[in-house]
Amino acid sequence: MSASAVAADRSVCAPLPVLGRDVLVPLVTGGEVDYAALDYAASAPTLQRVWDDVAAYAPYYGSVHRGAGYLSQLSTDLFENSRRTIAEFLGCGTEDQVVFTRSTTDSLNLLAAVLPQDTRVFVFETEHHASLLPWEQRADVAVTYLNAPRTPQQAVDTLEKALAEREPYGPALVCVTGASNVTGELWPVRELAAAAHAHGARIVLDAAQLAPHHPVDITELDVDWVAFSGHKLYAPFGAGVLAGRADWLQAAAPYLAGGGASRKVSRRTDGGVDVEWHTTAARHEAGSPNVIGAYAIASACRALTEAGFDGLVAREQELITRVREGLAEVPEVNVLSLFGDDAARVGVLSFVVEGWNSSHFAAALSAEYGIGVRDGLFCAHPLVRTLLGSEPQEPGECGAPEAAPGERSLNAIRVSLGVGT
Ligand code: PLP
Repeated sequence: MSASAVAADRSVCAPLPVLGRDVLVPLVTGGEVDYAALDYAASAPTLQRVWDDVAAYAPYYGSVHRGAGYLSQLSTDLFENSRRTIAEFLGCGTEDQVVFTRSTTDSLNLLAAVLPQDTRVFVFETEHHASLLPWEQRADVAVTYLNAPRTPQQAVDTLEKALAEREPYGPALVCVTGASNVTGELWPVRELAAAAHAHGARIVLDAAQLAPHHPVDITELDVDWVAFSGHKLYAPFGAGVLAGRADWLQAAAPYLAGGGASRKVSRRTDGGVDVEWHTTAARHEAGSPNVIGAYAIASACRALTEAGFDGLVAREQELITRVREGLAEVPEVNVLSLFGDDAARVGVLSFVVEGWNSSHFAAALSAEYGIGVRDGLFCAHPLVRTLLGSEPQEPGECGAPEAAPGERSLNAIRVSLGVGT
């Protein structure tokens, strides 16, 4: 079917409205179209409860850790209580630290910066670029890229083999996603953690897509660190978290040097400067911290805990199953999957439509139906190319290669949902 024929035949798009505007909360009602945001995997709309909490805090806004005044003390309490709330949300142990960052990307770059010298890192090529790329920024770190597995068990076997083959090594780190931002598929985190630990390696969980959809308990999953972003967890942009083991964090130089990270600074007799850095999370939080961002994440954690993940997961599974069933009725649609139809997944999926450039299809969904989805390679170029069986191309705008209408698509369309859909 040609692109124009598909455009004329609205039934091709029908499976998405199968979700129904009665089901999808129209976030923006402008002109004649209700707008349904189905791009939660990029950024989930902030919960009203979180906005309300932030607004309630606004009159008490003050500098954190820097003043004797009432507002400053209150802000400091809110900031540190937020840290405790998040530690509880993540099931952190008493020795674990919760470091506030800007995002998952920032959290993983922080971890890369504090790796001991000559650490060996193992990472699947299927990772989001935030988990794939930070490690090689360190010249003294060796990175082993693991090929895309086609089943969760194959992921564990691949990691096991790679770890065993390279022994003996000193410090080692495995980096793995909890849920793919492309396919929504869940990765066998517990099993991967067991494999890592059996070979003396540590493991960091990229929970950017997992945390909004499932409880993430660092102790229960037995991972060493968890990284996630507030803006995917129903809080606004600008704050993220790296939580977990303190030792590597505290042994390394501060991520940023400056006030807040330094406990004591003195001039030496030789004219230089001596610095004693904090050994708490503050070591990596130099500068005035983002108290509103931290408070908003804690508010979202409380809201999700109170709502209960069981109900949220059940609702989301019901919706994503309807999307899958609807898409399955359209022969031109191919849903992308690494682990196959039976894989456990969160409310995220990507597909291509035969004969369509995905960017044009996504634009049509927005213009014709008021449905906002994401198109492109989703900052996971190797994974999407594996799924599409395509060769690397010159990226177009935002990493999405151009294909003429009617040609096989070189990028994909992603639907993702969550609380409020
Ligand atoms: N990891 C995964 C799995 C993601 O989906 C994303 C964002 O899409 C990131 C990391 C990076 O998150 P951020 O852009 O908030 O740093």
